[in-house]
Amino acid sequence: KIPDIAEEIVSIDEPGYPIAKIRRDFPIVHEAIYLDSAAMSFSPEPVVNALIEFEHRYRANVGRGVHRFTQIATQRYWHAHTKVARFIHGEAGTTVFTKNTTESINMVASGLDWQPGDRVITTILEHHSNLLPWRALAAKGVELEIIGINNDYTLNIDELKETLSKGARLVAITHASNAIGTITPVREIGRLCRDHGALLLIDAAQSVPHIPFSLQEIDCDFCCFSGHKMLGPTGTGILWMKEQNINPLILGGGMVESVSQDGYQSVEGYGRYEAGTPNIAGGIGLGVAVDYLEEIGMEAIRQHEEELTTRLIDGLSRFKGVTIYAPAEPENRIGVVSFTIDGLHPHEVAERLDADAEILVRSGYHCCQPLMERLGLPEGTVRASIGLYTTENEVDLLIAAIKEINQGR
Ligand code: PLP
Repeated sequence: KIPDIAEEIVSIDEPGYPIAKIRRDFPIVHEAIYLDSAAMSFSPEPVVNALIEFEHRYRANVGRGVHRFTQIATQRYWHAHTKVARFIHGEAGTTVFTKNTTESINMVASGLDWQPGDRVITTILEHHSNLLPWRALAAKGVELEIIGINNDYTLNIDELKETLSKGARLVAITHASNAIGTITPVREIGRLCRDHGALLLIDAAQSVPHIPFSLQEIDCDFCCFSGHKMLGPTGTGILWMKEQNINPLILGGGMVESVSQDGYQSVEGYGRYEAGTPNIAGGIGLGVAVDYLEEIGMEAIRQHEEELTTRLIDGLSRFKGVTIYAPAEPENRIGVVSFTIDGLHPHEVAERLDADAEILVRSGYHCCQPLMERLGLPEGTVRASIGLYTTENEVDLLIAAIKEINQGR
């Protein structure tokens, strides 16, 4: 019998937030001061071990044949779907595994039957991945509306209400901005969409990994997020759908019950959206990542990250010449802190942080160029983002390094 890898997740014996245990589980955190978890999170040892175990002990395709390896792989791969669905408080069997958030969003944009005159509403906060698929629908006569933000970096909900009152087929909105950290009021937006008969797609790439997320509270139709930002392997993503109301993007093996000379019958359920051999090890690893997040607890993770975010913003805001772009209220932001230093290009700041202090941050547009233009930031920003393994000391070292760079300019 191959033991369930989840048993490897050692229970917590540390009082308070178990940062020492967490850091033991992520050996890579000792290689550098990593403040780029919004781009990609690290994977803890149990996730890495799940990948190795797949390769060493039962590597096989899923849903094909009857031998024992394929049975173990199939059972674990679909069990991972159940774990992910449970994690977001959705029903089992309603998740599709994809490559990433981008693929999930594109599946919806390509899979709905669009009519000329349909309207899609999105916002200026969006990652390019939640903008370009909707823009591409212009060729089918679909109109696109972009909602703005207020001067305090929160979403302009009044503008959204007004635009929605004129009718829309779908609203596609991020739950949390990867560029400036803004959390959007998706519960309220869900109710508004229901009232106006619009579908709601949530880009949850930055929220599911960092804040407690429940589909019981958020009334949406599609929810898209990435495994590699929530401790899972790269090349894993999720599309949750309330109903199977889109056409599959690709057809082929694995998604059919039967094929005749002139037709085919799809499998029952969401498996019909996963044609071809999937990322099996990745999917299984993603299930273990969810076990890990649940073991620590999303409330505890959120609190830890919120405290560090406030510490970072308070520290940086003391420096003249450093400008921060983030909502003021902790409940309106995630652990993403964008800032600029007068007279210095964001890439220059990021390079110096790496070279002088071994601090790794993101710099540039963060795949949100329209937002950067709206903020009057043609060169983008420096972005530090917090993960569950980030420490107070790491935040303080960033603040000290920025102080030095700022003084020396
Ligand atoms: N949406 C948001 C809010 C993101 O932060 C990202 C990645 O940074 C994406 C979408 C795209 O994710 P992926 O590159 O995993 O497709």
